[in-house]
Amino acid sequence: MKVDPGVNRICVDGREVILPRENTSVLLYKPKGYVSTVRDPQGRPKVTDLVQLPGVRLFPVGRLDYMTSGLIILTNDGELAELMTHPRYGIWKTYHALVAGKPTSAALQQMRRGVPLPEGRSAPAKVRLLAVLSGGRSLLEISIREGKKRQVRKMCSYVGHPVIELKRTRIAFLGLHGLRPGEYRFLSRIEVERLK
Ligand code: URA
Repeated sequence: MKVDPGVNRICVDGREVILPRENTSVLLYKPKGYVSTVRDPQGRPKVTDLVQLPGVRLFPVGRLDYMTSGLIILTNDGELAELMTHPRYGIWKTYHALVAGKPTSAALQQMRRGVPLPEGRSAPAKVRLLAVLSGGRSLLEISIREGKKRQVRKMCSYVGHPVIELKRTRIAFLGLHGLRPGEYRFLSRIEVERLK
């Protein structure tokens, strides 16, 4: 028989039927101006405000700065969150960084090799100059496997090219296609398994 969705306990012959609870994971295109924490003492908009699913509490995996846009996963799958944030698994994350100036090949090479950060030296990164733009700006594609605090911004500043805009365009094999800022989609079971 069909059961009203409001029913929270189903019994058959007096015994409660416990259904396995599926985990939920979504891929959100975070707009600028949202925090990726569950609570914000300053009361700013949160990424969790953008994904409201009745009866499901999701947590952001890792962090994007308030003014960084792009991909972030929200999940209630503890195993996925743990795997994705643990440095041992080193998931590649790719960013498009609009920076001031035109980095020389020596500057790009230095970012690739690693730069000193407060938490220690950054691990080898993939860095490509995608375009030199008008107004003395350049577009870089930077892929890192770590998630140190404000890492991409610090790497760019270190080599003398501060970030003007930052967007995360890829997490492992997951890209932005089909999503606009503020939109999300559910990750399929196959995608979650691939991430693990
Ligand atoms: N690196 C940064 O500097 N900021 C982010 O939000 C993500 C990576």
